[in-house]
Amino acid sequence: MKRIIAAAAISLMGAAQVSAEEIEIRRNGNTPSVVGNAENFTGHAVVSPLLPPNETTRANLGQVDFAPGARTAWHTHPAGQLLIVTTGKGWVQEEGKARQDINSGDVVWIPARVRHWHGATSTSPMSHLAMTYMVDGKNVNWLEPVSDAQYQ
Ligand code: MN
Repeated sequence: MKRIIAAAAISLMGAAQVSAEEIEIRRNGNTPSVVGNAENFTGHAVVSPLLPPNETTRANLGQVDFAPGARTAWHTHPAGQLLIVTTGKGWVQEEGKARQDINSGDVVWIPARVRHWHGATSTSPMSHLAMTYMVDGKNVNWLEPVSDAQYQ
């Protein structure tokens, strides 16, 4: 039994080593999507993990689909965030500045430690790809919800 477990462990290690040097295709739908939790999102948002960080990039890629009215809570990213709006119309706001429109095809860079939120407009859904970078095991620091008054 011990020998079998050891063989399996070696086989797994081998597979991991090989995969680090080969193209990896993560098939659509293989990683379960989750509904964004109420602490970090207002309204209905679906978070789909796409690619976890690896040793080379330390980048974490996901997709977020926001229903009309849905948005993140206020938050910061320790190493910034790249957003690529893929469908719909949304809003992004940096603390102390005016809310800005973002639309399909727009690319948004959010610098490290800048307090902000992003989401759909009140009348349109919005989806974006989101790339963040891991620092000491974290890629986001969640703060308080965006109130309806702040959102509007
Ligand atoms: Mn963000």
